[in-house]
Amino acid sequence: MARDSGRWALCDSSRYDNTGALSDCAFTDEARSAKLARHGFVLVPEHCLSMSKASSNAESIVELSNQAHAPALAPAHKPPVSPEALAHRELRRGPFWQRINAYADVTEAEFLDHQWQAKNSITNVPKLLAVLKGLVSSDFVHDAENGFQHTPMPVRVSPYLLSLIDWSNPYEDPLRIQFIPLLSRRLPDHPKVDLDPLHERQDMPVPGLSHRYPDKVLFLSIPTCPVYCRFCTRSYAVGLDTEEVHKLTFSVDIERWRAAIAYVASRPEVEDVLISGGDASQLRAEQVTFLGEAFLAIPHVRRIRFATKGLAVMPQKFLTDNAWTDAVTAIVEKGRKSHVDVMIHTHFNHPNEITSITQAAANKLHERGIFVRNQTVIMRGVNDSPATMGLLIKRLSYINVHPYYAYVHDMVKGVEDLRTTVATGQHIEKQIRGLVGGFNMPAVVVDTPGGGKREVHSYEHYDQVTGISVYLSPVVHPGEYFCYFDPIHLLPPEGQVRWAKPEEHDKMIEEAIAVARSKA
Ligand code: SF4
Repeated sequence: MARDSGRWALCDSSRYDNTGALSDCAFTDEARSAKLARHGFVLVPEHCLSMSKASSNAESIVELSNQAHAPALAPAHKPPVSPEALAHRELRRGPFWQRINAYADVTEAEFLDHQWQAKNSITNVPKLLAVLKGLVSSDFVHDAENGFQHTPMPVRVSPYLLSLIDWSNPYEDPLRIQFIPLLSRRLPDHPKVDLDPLHERQDMPVPGLSHRYPDKVLFLSIPTCPVYCRFCTRSYAVGLDTEEVHKLTFSVDIERWRAAIAYVASRPEVEDVLISGGDASQLRAEQVTFLGEAFLAIPHVRRIRFATKGLAVMPQKFLTDNAWTDAVTAIVEKGRKSHVDVMIHTHFNHPNEITSITQAAANKLHERGIFVRNQTVIMRGVNDSPATMGLLIKRLSYINVHPYYAYVHDMVKGVEDLRTTVATGQHIEKQIRGLVGGFNMPAVVVDTPGGGKREVHSYEHYDQVTGISVYLSPVVHPGEYFCYFDPIHLLPPEGQVRWAKPEEHDKMIEEAIAVARSKA
């Protein structure tokens, strides 16, 4: 209740009988109430006195004519907001792509056209060189050339992404780090990394459909993406073969799709279908409609998610590919009428990926009632600080994209330079909680090989010398222990020495699991 009008009485609290009537009327400014209470007083609206036994203590009551005469209370002091606290609202705008010579004459209409973006995406070194001519040193070019030859992922980068990279400092740029491999930055893989780090293939009852969690399936609908990310967890199946990896391809094949749909229909426990890839933005509009309607027709399916990185790497898709966006919108609307949640899941990793073009695309989805969630991977040199991650989640929240997960980097092959430690994930989580509303705070998780997602603080044991953290996964595999391994080059010297000896590897894991068991 506000204390801004009427007559008030200052009562001796020691003689005041705090009846229900009084507590109903006592004002709710707790700080001020506490201050008065420390001096033995309580402030009571005059009309309450007759409802309370306090009226019999008339000699202890001080009459106040009105609020103006009430005891002075210090107002809560809130300093003016600093400009840095609002930095998340400063989105890159204007023809920023024209800074790159190759795009100097590209008009806004062309740059906003998703087809122009797709057609002009960089897929090999000669194309990259042509675009970067004069922008980077020949050392950098050689480094990238060699990097492309030693990667599990093929190369594809959109002009939009290339335009967001700071080419005056390409070695440190957080977007370059994610999409353009450099041989000079490559580190040896941890002995426990795997081409399929989440062991998705072990949980596939039909090709391309992974059923690990009881109520959820992951459907790999298409093997291509608008860009290819160095850190991809699914490098065993996404994109074309590289010199290092022969891919297991889940291509667009109607019979394979029908088998996946039939499997979901046959499993009444499945309520959640994630249509991924590759990337769902690569599906044609009629394919979106086919899959959406097929899964909507299964009565026990309650949630459908289209997974696309498109919003982060080619937002033009949502602005100019009306057929695709309309197809998703129609499935969302149909889902709403049948009480099924249909939404988009996307993947931003750095605040620089969010521009005024992204905001326009996110606004379009928002206007259509399409809910968008984001997953982030914590990567060294990209977003492994509370400041960057904090700015990212504030900027995402600002454009109505809901931060959902922040993953400690999976045990992916060929990107040891990108991985961070479990301790880094914990530190970031502690530092950023409270920056945004709880519903926009990402859960920081470790996706343990075989065991699924575990909250970053929930290990049974974590040895920071060997870098081994041990988790239980009661829902997925009750009673089993699953390990995650910090990058060796970030361990203290004694840990690095042990990992240098292959005969120590199993010993370290057994030791860590034994300690975890002893705590159970
Ligand atoms: S968009 Fe997703 S699936 Fe495609 S390469 Fe990137 S992380 Fe992998």
